[in-house]
Amino acid sequence: MSTLKAVRGTRDLLPPETELWNFVEETARRVFARYNFGEIRTPVFEDTQLFARGVGEETDIVSKEMYTWEDRARAQSEKAQSLTLRPENTAGVVRAYIEHKLGETGLLQKLYYIGPQFRRERPQKGRYRQFYQIGAEVIGPPSAGSESPLRDAEVLEMLATLLDELGITGWHLEINSVGSAMDRPRYVAALREALGPVKHLMCEDNQRRAETNPLRVLDSKDPGDQEIIDKLPKIADFLDESSKAHFAAVCAALNACGVPYTVNPRLVRGLDYYTRTTFEFTHGGLGAQNALLGGGRYDGLSEIIGGPKAPGIGFAMGEDRLILTLEAQAAARTNLADAYVAPMGEGLNPAALKLARELRRAGLRVELGDGGFRLKKSFEMGNKLARKIVLFGEDEQQSGILTVKDFASGEQVKVPRADIVPVLRK
Ligand code: ATP
Ligand code: MG
Repeated sequence: MSTLKAVRGTRDLLPPETELWNFVEETARRVFARYNFGEIRTPVFEDTQLFARGVGEETDIVSKEMYTWEDRARAQSEKAQSLTLRPENTAGVVRAYIEHKLGETGLLQKLYYIGPQFRRERPQKGRYRQFYQIGAEVIGPPSAGSESPLRDAEVLEMLATLLDELGITGWHLEINSVGSAMDRPRYVAALREALGPVKHLMCEDNQRRAETNPLRVLDSKDPGDQEIIDKLPKIADFLDESSKAHFAAVCAALNACGVPYTVNPRLVRGLDYYTRTTFEFTHGGLGAQNALLGGGRYDGLSEIIGGPKAPGIGFAMGEDRLILTLEAQAAARTNLADAYVAPMGEGLNPAALKLARELRRAGLRVELGDGGFRLKKSFEMGNKLARKIVLFGEDEQQSGILTVKDFASGEQVKVPRADIVPVLRK
């Protein structure tokens, strides 16, 4: 008999890796608690209609990625029900919000979830058929302030805090506004018109999207089509005054708390329910699957699946990709020396060797540069070899105060020579 293996696109998570998974989940729970979110757990499978209506028939997820089956009818009189393993969790949360009449509290519901999702995609690094998401939603009646751009900015600020606390360095936030349900049809019409004469030049997938769902053409990664896509109309030119003001308010609040971001006019995201703010946090270390998390506002979703008006905003973070990033960072970190000692001038070489000797005898891993290098070269070499650089020039020699720069955070501090070992060990 042939041996049985885990199904393609699924995998076992074993110790010691599961420790990292627990660290990520515990950190997320702790941060969500500080922002006063509570946990929700919805079923792993739902009525297929929930996703067909909520996520959208024309999306890649619903049209080709769902695990759907006809559940056997229990009695002759009963009809078989079409069920689907959840490909995402927002639709399930909104269904639960409606089913339990959470809107009647008159308060915002702030809910987070952690759990497996299922999509039949081509398995590759960072892409699995059973994967895990950590997500959160802020949803409620308009009277509770659920439409306010402050909620968008607060969610984004929370995410920046969470990634920082997880120790993920080098993340990048992109945001955009896809407008309200009123703006969208005008934009889609303009896209269709612009795509008409050029779509036959595009890849097969984009030719199909140009017909069925032209917005999807914008997030295509097909290299041959980028030139055409760059020339398509921009959604920013189709936003009405209130969507524009909403987006400007989100940006202003992010600026006020110092969360860095860039506006990407092509960011439309793969789910139909998004309105106004959309966003993605990416990480360069992930390669082609570079999105750590994505999200946005979904002001009409509740009504689409038969509920009351309940605007909301949320995100879903790919836990598998977070773990990959953390593992890559840890591997990168362990290959680096603790410090690169950079003498600034050849005359300082002997004294720099003495400093390196002290640091090494204290147990630190140290690279010693050369006073013959120019400062720029010292920084370049140091960045490749060590986590921190120690600048050792005439001034430092005289004053006994050393300048230490951390390459990952960019932070630069002055430290008395006697106190330097613990600073470099951090
Ligand atoms: P992608 O562009 O990578 O396909 P997506 O737009 O389909 O992502 P969402 O549906 O917004 O992603 O899901 C949010 C996050 O979940 C993604 O940013 C990613 O980190 C993660 N994710 C999505 N699909 C998978 C998958 N098949 N395997 C692992 N993680 C995934
Ligand atoms: Mg996808």
